[in-house]
Amino acid sequence: MATLAQTSILLAGVLIAFLACVTQGQLTQTSVEAFSRSLTGSVLAYNVSNEATPSQPPTFDLWSYLEDGPNPYVRYSVPAVYVLAQDVNDILEALRFAAQNSLRTSVLGAGHQVVGVQLVPNGVTIDTRNLTGIDVDPDSQTALVQSGNLGQDLIEAIEPYNLMWPTGHIGSVGVAGVAVGGGMGIGSNLWGASVDSILGIDVISTWQNHTADWDIVRINSTNYPDLFWGMLGGGPMLATAVAFELQLHPIPADGILHQAQAIWPIETAMEAFQWYYEWQQTTPIHLETEYVLTTVPGVGQVAAVSITNWDPENTTSVTEAFEAFLPQALAAGAVEAVPDEVTLTGYLESYTARLAPGNLAYYINDRYLLSIPDELAGSLITLFANASGPDYDLLIAPSPNLVSKNNSDTAYGYRNTWYVWVWPFWARTAGGAAVDGDAEHIAWAAQGGEILDLYGEGHYLNMNRFDSADSTQTCFPPDNWARLQQVKTKYDPHNLFRPLDYYRTNDGFSGIAAN
Ligand SMILES: Cc1cc2nc3c(=O)[nH]c(=O)nc-3n(C[C@H](O)[C@H](O)[C@H](O)COP(=O)(O)OP(=O)(O)OC[C@H]3O[C@@H](n4cnc5c(N)ncnc54)[C@H](O)[C@@H]3O)c2cc1C
Repeated sequence: MATLAQTSILLAGVLIAFLACVTQGQLTQTSVEAFSRSLTGSVLAYNVSNEATPSQPPTFDLWSYLEDGPNPYVRYSVPAVYVLAQDVNDILEALRFAAQNSLRTSVLGAGHQVVGVQLVPNGVTIDTRNLTGIDVDPDSQTALVQSGNLGQDLIEAIEPYNLMWPTGHIGSVGVAGVAVGGGMGIGSNLWGASVDSILGIDVISTWQNHTADWDIVRINSTNYPDLFWGMLGGGPMLATAVAFELQLHPIPADGILHQAQAIWPIETAMEAFQWYYEWQQTTPIHLETEYVLTTVPGVGQVAAVSITNWDPENTTSVTEAFEAFLPQALAAGAVEAVPDEVTLTGYLESYTARLAPGNLAYYINDRYLLSIPDELAGSLITLFANASGPDYDLLIAPSPNLVSKNNSDTAYGYRNTWYVWVWPFWARTAGGAAVDGDAEHIAWAAQGGEILDLYGEGHYLNMNRFDSADSTQTCFPPDNWARLQQVKTKYDPHNLFRPLDYYRTNDGFSGIAAN
């Protein structure tokens, strides 16, 4: 996360941006203050026509800030009103206030989406991070989880019952963001995408004509099934979720996950890939696998294959397949192959150490693919081998899959594919973008994007860069996209939430494509 000094600079930047941004004709200081008084929480900052008087600078701390710099290629949007909600009623009131003032809204779960789409330009952003209730029912293996929880909060609440939920791999990723965006979570080779383990969602009924009628409605497969379908992957564009009824899953009885990792020198990364790709397709679904090109301190660039056993039963065939991994990897040329074991929280921490170790800037290019042909793998390996940065990460892994689910079952529709990300990390120093070599790192990721364009199917909504009017469309298979448009028309025809053709403009601030 950002250092204190960096955060202060950023907050100052936000304050200036609040003062400088486009004014809101509809709002007055009086109306914002009256609205603020109606809340249990507070309005942290606002900008109104000729009365730009932020009450205090917002104290939000977004991951997208890490991409900021003197010459930013991603800059946060500036909302007209930033609400820090304290309870569900605050969310309801904020939505009403936005609708009554003809403003768009966005909801902030944990602020992890990488290019800042959780902030709506010149609209009302509702920060739900104080809504952290978690109610676990170990007997039914379900939990009712409010929308402000981090993945690690949820895991800490359910791990004592030997239960898990496919939240993001890093503890600071929000439950809400993965729940409404699809969710490529932990254990998702066995349990599917995060959306596949959601039984119901409490949403505010913003589709009703009169704001006075708006209330909390539990949607699920029988109540508003079309909206429920859309929320499971297209949620940010449809409605506001205040809580999720989650289906939890068992972990092994001793609470320990068995893992293993094998490493190949970068020179034999192609042989490693070919072995992995073939081997992976015959492994039991209980084994989550990934192939990563990365740099190990003191060793240099390597290809690494990792597996984690999520089998709660310790089934003999799965255990045998797991144990066969190490000798098979060594026989396939791995120079090192080691077993490991972790707790669930330890598992999240290990990903945090790899992907979010500190004060880094990053830029992600991602794609879902139907297959990974050798030529594609070869191009990616060459790209990685020529990388100049020490902390680049290039991942090839199966996308979330659940045998019992089809891609048409939820708006999220990229199950049973492969997922690739090209993800450069680099130290963010006080010198900023020019000193830190941003242009070079981004150019490397862009090359990766060009390679993936030749083979790729679509993007993950939560990793999307939103740089063109069809960006959202690229996150859904064609049939799902057609249906999502219908759901949008029915439940959010006036775009209270993010339009389907939303994109960010070149000046760094978010733009709204003309409807
Ligand atoms: C280091 C790092 C690691 C990541 N790891 C993973 C991973 O393992 N798996 C994965 O799937 N993704 C991952 N992501 C991608 C992404 O951050 C998450 O998928 C997701 O956006 C995080 O949720 P959040 O609540 O923190 O997001 P936010 O940024 O707060 O929100 C994400 C989107 O959801 C919307 N939203 C949030 N809350 C609500 C709500 N209550 N109702 C309606 N809409 C809402 C927001 O408006 C926004 O559009 C990672 C990103 C980073 C930077």
